[in-house]
Parts: sequence; C-alpha cells; structure tokens
Amino acid sequence: MHIKEMRGLKIRGRVVAQQSMKELTSLKIGGQAYLYVVPEDLEDLKTVISFCKDSGLSFLVIGNGSKLLIRDEGFKGVVVKLGSSFTRIKMENKGDGITVGAGLSLSTLIDFASEKELSGLELLVGIPGTVGGAIARNASAFGQDLGQRVIWVRALDNSTGDFTVRKEDILFGYRTSVFMDKKDWIITEVKLALPAGRKEEIISRLREARDKKMRSQPISLPSAGCVFKNPPSCSAGLLIQRAGCSGMRIGDAQVSTHHANFIVNKGNAAARDVIRLIDMVRERVKASSGITLEPELEII
Ligand SMILES: Cc1cc2nc3c(=O)[nH]c(=O)nc-3n(C[C@H](O)[C@H](O)[C@H](O)COP(=O)(O)OP(=O)(O)OC[C@H]3O[C@@H](n4cnc5c(N)ncnc54)[C@H](O)[C@@H]3O)c2cc1C
Repeated sequence: MHIKEMRGLKIRGRVVAQQSMKELTSLKIGGQAYLYVVPEDLEDLKTVISFCKDSGLSFLVIGNGSKLLIRDEGFKGVVVKLGSSFTRIKMENKGDGITVGAGLSLSTLIDFASEKELSGLELLVGIPGTVGGAIARNASAFGQDLGQRVIWVRALDNSTGDFTVRKEDILFGYRTSVFMDKKDWIITEVKLALPAGRKEEIISRLREARDKKMRSQPISLPSAGCVFKNPPSCSAGLLIQRAGCSGMRIGDAQVSTHHANFIVNKGNAAARDVIRLIDMVRERVKASSGITLEPELEII
C-alpha cells in the first residue's frame, strides 16, 4: 500500500480534506471536517496522533457516528476512523475470551459470537455502532450492556502511547465510560468474556430482541438513537410524549411519532434545527413534569 500525503500528514490509510460529516454520521447532518483520516493500522494511528500534536490540531475519533451530532460549522480538526486492521477478531480457545478490534461493527461481532455459540451480546442486536463506540458509550439494551462482557481494553494516547485499561478503571456507567472524559484515549482493541451458550437459544434471543427493536424504533429514517438519557425510574420517551412533543418539528428535524425519544432527519435537517428541538423538548418536559432531561446525544 502506498503512502498518501495531505497537508503534511503521510499515512498508508485514507486522508481526505474537507470531508462532509453528513456522510459519516447516522443522522446525516454536519459540516465538514478539516481532515478525515482512516489509519490502516496501529503504526498509521500513531503517526496521525503525533501529527495532530505537532500541528496543534485536535482530533475526534469516531466509529459509525451513530451517537453524534456534528454542528453545521463542522470540526476544525482531524476526524479519525479506524481502518481495516482494527476489525479483526481473535479467538484461540473458546473459554479464554475473544479479542476484537475497536473498528469492528457490533453487528459483525454479534454474528460471529452466535456462529461460535457464545452468548451475552444478543440483546445488543440492531445497535448500529462499532465496538469502540459501543465501549465508549457502554451501549446497552433490555438490561444488557457491553461493559458487562469486558476484560480489558487496549488504548492509545499521545503521551503514554499504547496501554491497557483494566475493566475496573473503565468506569462503565449508563451510556458512559472513562473514554467519554478522556477524549484523547483511542480504543484500539477489546478483550471480551462471552459465556458458552446453545445456538438455538442464542438465535431465539436475537430474534426476539430484533423484533422488539423493529417494532419500537423508527429505523427507516436517519437518527442517532435515543436523544435523552432515561431519568432514574422513568422513561424519557414517555415524559416527552406526555409533554406533547411527539411530531414537533423544526425544519426537517422531527421528534419521532414512533418513539418520542428519537429525533429523525426527514431530509435536509441542519444541526441547529436538532439543537433547537432538543432545547424545546427539554423546556416542555421540565414545565410538564419538573424533570430536566439530560442529553445522551453527543454534540460536537
Ligand atoms: C437506530 C439506532 C438505534 C440505536 N439503539 C441503541 C441502543 O439500543 N442502545 C444504545 O446504547 N445505543 C443505541 N444507539 C446509539 C449508538 O448506536 C450507540 O451509542 C453506539 O454504541 C455508538 O457507536 P458508534 O461506533 O457509532 O460511535 P460514534 O457515534 O461514532 O461515537 C460515540 C462516542 O464514542 C467515541 N468513540 C468511538 N470510537 C472510539 C474509539 N475507538 N476510541 C475511543 N472513543 C471512541 C466517540 O468519540 C464518541 O464520543 C442507536 C443508534 C441508532 C441510530
């Protein structure tokens, strides 16, 4: 593979200037990134990190962009998405756990696990993220979260280099982890412990979870999943519905009529439309229930 050069950055993977973030996020919204890079491997990734440090540019690592709203002004730094060598799965003995690259899609991981009769991930089916994004946000569904399965995470930053983070230091919480605070730590690899299961039972749990999602989520329109975290002991969606916000619309951004905690892009929504809608929903929910909703969607 040849070295490519763009604005002083030389790597083997892709480098694109002025990349539209609409193409890299599930909401299909956002301005341009100054540079977009897809480092091919760890060596490339290290080059990107040192380039950012030396040139004073900030970076944002993304997975599938399924929990991100990028502002219309774009990102004046380097957007990094892990390339193909970060999508490997290694399994030696079934009982020893599996090691997966952070760029792998969660759906490929779930397919692999069910094929190998490994359980513990079925309820996460349908979450359109990568393993890295799912660790950072501790993706969860129906009471199961990815953090429960983690043994350790390998990460990289621009001062320490390559290091291991033990499970107890990852501080998994509801849709969060230490990686949401340490934004310069890039997850590269994850070791998971998945208990052995019976294939028919795994497939039946997968089917049930997929059906529930298909029924409850507006999957035919671009979105970023739930916009707000559920407050303790109640559902954000229900509060939004009760506050009369279902169907509320600004430009092409609309509170879904199918699931009130989703904002969907009906065509050409701008980030400012979504942000105004979020503010209006929060105000109405606060006025009707006294509860202040906390956004789950990350605005960049
Ligand atoms: C239709 C739909 C349904 C969804 N359903 C669910 C659901 O049921 N449960 C749920 O939890 N979520 C759900 N989501 C939200 C989303 O898919 C998850 O949060 C997912 O885990 C995000 O992964 P991603 O790769 O897209 O991350 P991104 O959105 O790209 O990034 C999310 C965060 O992770 C960080 N990050 C990404 N990769 C790395 C890395 N390698 N190292 C360090 N940090 C990294 C980013 O900087 C960012 O802060 C849904 C989204 C959609 C669109």
